[in-house]
Amino acid sequence: MVGRRRAIKKKKDPAKLDAIVKKAKVQISEREKGYREQSLKIHPWVCGRCGKTFTRENLHLLTVHHIDHDHNNNPPDGSNWENLCIYCHDNEHQKMNEYLEFGDVAVNKESEAATHNPFADLKSLLDKDEK
Ligand SMILES: [Zn+2]
Ligand SMILES: [Zn+2]
Repeated sequence: MVGRRRAIKKKKDPAKLDAIVKKAKVQISEREKGYREQSLKIHPWVCGRCGKTFTRENLHLLTVHHIDHDHNNNPPDGSNWENLCIYCHDNEHQKMNEYLEFGDVAVNKESEAATHNPFADLKSLLDKDEK
């Protein structure tokens, strides 16, 4: 008798994982729906950048931007929300990315210059002292 190896079935539980993912998705979309609705209640249906006004018909083009870019920061007074049309919202995030990139460069240059100059001064002072 030849022992036959059984094909090992990988035992995953896709149903369980699916349920977890589904639940998380629902929670996120409910939260997003929540703050969007609140922001649309608090703020006028106007893009905060280009001033385009929105109606019920095109309201889906009006999105809610987090001013500090922290989606978990949702104060009920709406102080971290800004209604932006999808185009300006896109722009806003591109600007933020550019700002972060160039901001970093500028900061590095500045700190370099800041450490360089006083150091040179210090050196000349020390040189004077030594003389
Ligand atoms: Zn706009
Ligand atoms: Zn945004």
